[in-house]
Order: sequence, then structure tokens, then C-alpha cells
Amino acid sequence: MAMPAPAHAPLGHGELASYAESIAGCVRCPLSRGRTQVVFGSGDPDADLMFVGEAPGFHEDKQGVPFVGAAGQLLSKLLGGIGLTRDDVFVANVLKCRPPGNRDPLPEEIAACEGHLFRQIELIRPKVVATLGNFATKLLSGRPEGITRVHGREQPVSLGGNRVVLYPIFHPAAALYTPRMLEVLEADFARIPALLGRDPAPAPVPALRPVPVAPAEPVQLGLF
Ligand code: URA
Repeated sequence: MAMPAPAHAPLGHGELASYAESIAGCVRCPLSRGRTQVVFGSGDPDADLMFVGEAPGFHEDKQGVPFVGAAGQLLSKLLGGIGLTRDDVFVANVLKCRPPGNRDPLPEEIAACEGHLFRQIELIRPKVVATLGNFATKLLSGRPEGITRVHGREQPVSLGGNRVVLYPIFHPAAALYTPRMLEVLEADFARIPALLGRDPAPAPVPALRPVPVAPAEPVQLGLF
């Protein structure tokens, strides 16, 4: 099922947009041979809050925008629950190109691609980097502990030359099938305004219903 293209803000002019252009033809790893396009990231180039997922899936590869499938719809709803939209944040992935069949990223792919993510963080200079799932969490924390152990626990780290708050949370795809996981995600999201130094979201967030999964988008593993 094709997802409609979301109206996420295009990258503003400036260094981040120039960097996106400069890596549009990236051939650092063999994923370049199977991709439709590099999925650089989308949102506010000056965002205080950045999300880092795993890798583009089928729809992301086609549309060139991260998190446009079912997991992305849930991400937008969770953001709405804390008074934010996709245009208020920047969303990127560990890998900028789709692994075949949405398989897990390989260590050599992560090693080839991580420089792009670090450069993005350096240019965006977010206050909080929320890592979605295991791959982003392990890469950016530099630690082996998995998301089940560390979700919801902020940790100060130095990324791209800046001090940032790293905030690991479960990947939204994990909540598409498991209502209990949705509650955990909502609780972890509810702490984000405080981490940003903002007032909490005004009203308690009602439990969100899981979003039906698009059949053309195989489930990504490694979410826990
Ligand atoms: N899952 C991810 O980790 N990233 C995307 O862009 C889409 C699904």
C-alpha cells in the first residue's frame, strides 16, 4: 500500500542542505546499488529535538523521506501527543539507504554511513537526540546495552562536537503490534518536553491505537 507523500518541510538553504546535496550520490557502501535514492532526513534544520531511526524502508526509499510508513505515522501521533509536529523536529536514520528486504543494517554499512549522521548532528546541533531502537542507541551511546535496558533514561554525550542529551526510546514499529509497548512509548515521549527544558504537554495523552501495518512494508527486526 503506497503511503501519500507527507508535507514535511524541505531542508532550509544552508550548510545542511549543501551537505544533503553532497551525499546524494554516495557510494560508500554496496547499498547504493539497490537504492532508489539517499534518504537524508527531513524536518527543521535548527531543531532542538532530533530523532534517529534505523534505515529507510520501502516507502522511505521511494519517497526520499524517513518514517513515512506505518511506524512514521505512529511517530507523528506520538509527537502530536507532546504538542509537536514533524516540522518541529529533525528525523534521520543510522543508514541513509534501504537495506534489501528491510534486513538489519550490517556493521560495515553502519561504519560506512555513520559519518553522515555525525555530520548531521554537528550541523543541526540539537539539544536532545532521541534514538529509536537498538541500532541508533548502540551507535550513538557507544555502549552495548540494548534498548530494553536503557529506554527512557537520558544520558549526556558528546556528539558532533556538542554536548547533547541522548534519549533512547523504543522504535515505534515495536508498538504496531503490542499495545503495552505503546504505553511505554507514550510514557517515554511524555518526558521529552522536560528534557528540552519546556513545559510538559498540557493534557494527559490518551492511549493511541496501533496503526495498521502497510502490507508492502516488511517488519524491521532488531527493534528490541
Ligand atoms: N524505520 C526506520 O527505522 N526508519 C525509517 O525511516 C522507516 C522505518
